[in-house]
Amino acid sequence: MSSRICSALSARRFLPPAGAFFLKQRHNGLPTGPRLPTLRAMSNQNQPIHIIGGGLAGSEAAWQISRAGVPVVLHEMRPVRATEAHQSDQLAELVCSNSFRSDDATSNAVGLLHQEMRRMGSLIMGCADRHQVPAGGALAVDREGFAQAVTAALEAEDLIQIAREEIQGTPPSDWKSVIIATGPLTSTGLATAIGSLTGEAELSFFDAIAPIVHRDSINMDKAWFQSRYDKAGPGGTGADYINCPLSKEEYEGFIDALIAGEKTTFKEWEHVPYFDGCLPIEVMAERGRETLRHGPLKPVGLTNPHTPGVKPYAVIQLRQDNALGTLYNMVGFQTKLKHGEQARVFRTIPGLEGAEFARLGGLHRNTFLNSPKVLDPFLRLKAEPRLRFAGQITGCEGYVESAAIGLLTGRWAAAESRGAPISHPPVTTALGALLNHITGGHIETVNPGPPSFQPMNVNFGLFPPMELAPKSETGKRLRSPEKAAAKKHAMTDRARADLEAWLTGAVAQAAE
Ligand SMILES: Cc1cc2nc3c(=O)[nH]c(=O)nc-3n(C[C@H](O)[C@H](O)[C@H](O)COP(=O)(O)OP(=O)(O)OC[C@H]3O[C@@H](n4cnc5c(N)ncnc54)[C@H](O)[C@@H]3O)c2cc1C
Repeated sequence: MSSRICSALSARRFLPPAGAFFLKQRHNGLPTGPRLPTLRAMSNQNQPIHIIGGGLAGSEAAWQISRAGVPVVLHEMRPVRATEAHQSDQLAELVCSNSFRSDDATSNAVGLLHQEMRRMGSLIMGCADRHQVPAGGALAVDREGFAQAVTAALEAEDLIQIAREEIQGTPPSDWKSVIIATGPLTSTGLATAIGSLTGEAELSFFDAIAPIVHRDSINMDKAWFQSRYDKAGPGGTGADYINCPLSKEEYEGFIDALIAGEKTTFKEWEHVPYFDGCLPIEVMAERGRETLRHGPLKPVGLTNPHTPGVKPYAVIQLRQDNALGTLYNMVGFQTKLKHGEQARVFRTIPGLEGAEFARLGGLHRNTFLNSPKVLDPFLRLKAEPRLRFAGQITGCEGYVESAAIGLLTGRWAAAESRGAPISHPPVTTALGALLNHITGGHIETVNPGPPSFQPMNVNFGLFPPMELAPKSETGKRLRSPEKAAAKKHAMTDRARADLEAWLTGAVAQAAE
């Protein structure tokens, strides 16, 4: 075992008698979910799976693995070594808000994700439900009660060993199956080792996020499709961007709003650098009123077909963001404006008055991989497949999403250890849609600025659109907002049915 590990593991052995794995576990009223049947041929079953990082993802992965009857060592560096944001030594600590966001499984994508995770016996969701505090339609938790419950549940599992130690470099070569779930604040030694395995350009330490808009919320009576100078470029059509025009008066008002808008401040420890090519839009506006008009908002090479005789004073461009074509990002709009301000200011742009944002902009300290490039479809590092990644480091965003990816990777690692087949959840489910974003659902761009793959919360823009427009019970075509609500209901119904079919199929496959 590597000398880089700060504290020694106990000499506990991982050889419980065959078939005894399930009997030894204590349930404590916590979720169990559908379990995989015990396999006769358990290829690596006596070898523990090593998880690095006991946050939201690592804790969920450990739970899923132990519930499948496979031993786990969970390596968590706190309290031996602190992060800049965590305050305690508890596993699954929530570093900021205490909210898991909407719990509405019929018309909200994160609510649907909650439901799917509950269905799959999620520890994180089980503890969140048990420590819920009143928060309207949201699922908010008593943060200490929640983290203590997760910690106690994991400590009570005989198949889980918790090692309080920092892993400071490449995990030892005798660890045959490893899940790295060290999150946005991965410690430096490990991050350096990961960077050397992936190539430094494929590991980011900051995100620089431009807002993303649902395509069907853009008013195309004002906006239009066109690439600058109608250039088709590689894979393009010459009409790849959505353009929103600004008159001189609108441009001046927009600059004033950007400068006056309330901004978030960096935490002292974040040290977020401003790179050339991805300055926050309001910083560019502060540098000179014309800067944006000569930068990302330049009006050249574009003709507004709605008013062909009037040259726009400035043009805001949106570029397709996902392969499904349901999401568009605002080009050059990385920003530190507060979320409420972003929605208010950006909805003053002609064509975006009714914009629904799948994601608002931001700049944060955040360690994450260029996952579509360096990970395989089951989140194993292509360069070293014994290493699998989970949680926010894979390019999802948020507590629930991180735990969801931990749930999947835990199940995959356990199934591999048992010699059982592994498969993806359908892309029509919240789990599958989120996974698809990480493994390659976005559109790669070669433009200067931040890398095109950026972290994302789960949202309906990641789901394949419904082929048929939903109709009312009497068979009539619906109008907005009933149409939008019916579409969400139809998508979540489809997700539930497809998840069930997948889970039933996966269990049947494993039993063969
Ligand atoms: C300041 C801040 C505020 C945030 N606010 C919110 C919010 O309000 N809502 C929201 O949904 N999301 C928020 N996030 C995002 C949030 O961190 C993630 O969504 C979530 O916690 C990520 O889960 P994770 O399991 O991937 O990482 P984490 O939960 O961060 O867990 C990673 C764990 O790995 C450990 N670790 C790191 N390096 C090593 C190592 N080398 N060896 C051993 N252990 C190691 C850490 O101590 C930590 O316990 C915030 C993030 C930050 C940084």
